[in-house]
Amino acid sequence: MHVCVLGAGIVGLASAYALSLKGHTVTVIDKAGAGSGASGGNGGQLSYSYVQPLADPAIWRQLPKLLFSPSSPFKLTPQFDTCQWLWGIKFLQACNASTSCRTTAELLALAGQSRQAFDQMMAREQLDCDFAASGKLVLYDNASALAAAVSQMHLQRKMGCLQEAVTADRCVELEPALAHQHARIAGAIYTPGECAADCQKTCDGLVGVLRARGVRLLLNTRIDQLVMRGRLLAAVDTSAGAVEADHFVMALGAASAPLLRSLGMRLPVYPLKGYSITLDVSSNASAAPRVSVTDSARKVVFARMGSRLRVAGMAELSGYDTALSPRQIASLRASTESVFPGCCGIAALNPWAGLRPATPTGLPLVGLQPGGPSNLMLNTGHGALGFTLAFGSAERVAELLN
Ligand SMILES: Cc1cc2nc3c(=O)[nH]c(=O)nc-3n(C[C@H](O)[C@H](O)[C@H](O)COP(=O)(O)OP(=O)(O)OC[C@H]3O[C@@H](n4cnc5c(N)ncnc54)[C@H](O)[C@@H]3O)c2cc1C
Repeated sequence: MHVCVLGAGIVGLASAYALSLKGHTVTVIDKAGAGSGASGGNGGQLSYSYVQPLADPAIWRQLPKLLFSPSSPFKLTPQFDTCQWLWGIKFLQACNASTSCRTTAELLALAGQSRQAFDQMMAREQLDCDFAASGKLVLYDNASALAAAVSQMHLQRKMGCLQEAVTADRCVELEPALAHQHARIAGAIYTPGECAADCQKTCDGLVGVLRARGVRLLLNTRIDQLVMRGRLLAAVDTSAGAVEADHFVMALGAASAPLLRSLGMRLPVYPLKGYSITLDVSSNASAAPRVSVTDSARKVVFARMGSRLRVAGMAELSGYDTALSPRQIASLRASTESVFPGCCGIAALNPWAGLRPATPTGLPLVGLQPGGPSNLMLNTGHGALGFTLAFGSAERVAELLN
């Protein structure tokens, strides 16, 4: 069967890989290079246990601060776009305990499948992507935030997650670069099994693997239109002409919903913009963490990638604009200087912005869409966990197609 994968982000490339392993003829199309959307500069966390969705009951308590505090990691810029408002309403509807618990269970199952598929891919292909089984510390600076995290940890333990609550002393023992933060740490949740890798390098490595497997990659090729024949998607019109296939996989990340609107399909996927900086820490390696660290108060993640430190965060509901905000980049730099002083120095910041393809609940859309073409499989809406979940949802798509 000829399957055409739309999008060469981590989700599209992982889908192409899974489909190629099943013996399908595969074409991948992307308007730019591989990893040039949300995947390239992301936080690099393979966050298999820490999957709690953003849509959480605690949001209601935090909402005034999130919306109005100048230091808030969240920013809302209202758009003349009903999709943004509908997304916001559905997100708030999902902020209740039972939805959050159900979503957590489903995400944990998908993350478990993804870990297995990623590990198998790495064993087979030996990609050079700065992969490290680094473990992860999520730091809390006050007792009530720590108590909420401990209760989430107990919930996740029942679902099979290996996590432990640790003291500030233990944090510093696990990650000596946190020493001078000791006084600010009320406690942390430690997840020894979490991993990190450079998602851009993973994408680049997959391109090589896919080419070697005979997959056709049409990069720098924009998809303009979907062409229906009866109830089937017959082709996609691109800047390089029409591409026909038996089946299609929609993996355009945040661009999935606008393109499908032409078929009358309304996907609950909206961009949640984030930023990262990447610092070369080779001249001061001991100042940078080896363990992945999340500063929960600032909602910033730190991941070591070889001789570099990736720092990522922020969530802006502000449409499809990918422009860099100097204020947000300065804020990431300030967080780094505070948590890991000595890492910034004179090194270039390599600022980056990307659009997380977010659904209101945090669950990706994987499979056929009711009412949509019967040969169009969705694999989109992975939100803040696209790198983590990509290989699991790719396997599910390939299984469904078979
Ligand atoms: C700041 C930040 C930090 C993050 N940190 C993490 C993390 O630590 N761990 C984690 O698991 N996830 C993280 N994520 C989320 C993760 O990056 C995304 O969920 C993931 O990259 C989505 O992958 P994707 O392939 O679906 O989309 P994308 O990577 O956006 O790929 C979509 C592709 O479609 C292409 N495209 C769009 N429109 C067209 C068109 N018309 N024609 C042709 N091609 C088109 C784009 O060029 C792009 O390459 C983070 C995201 C951000 C923004």
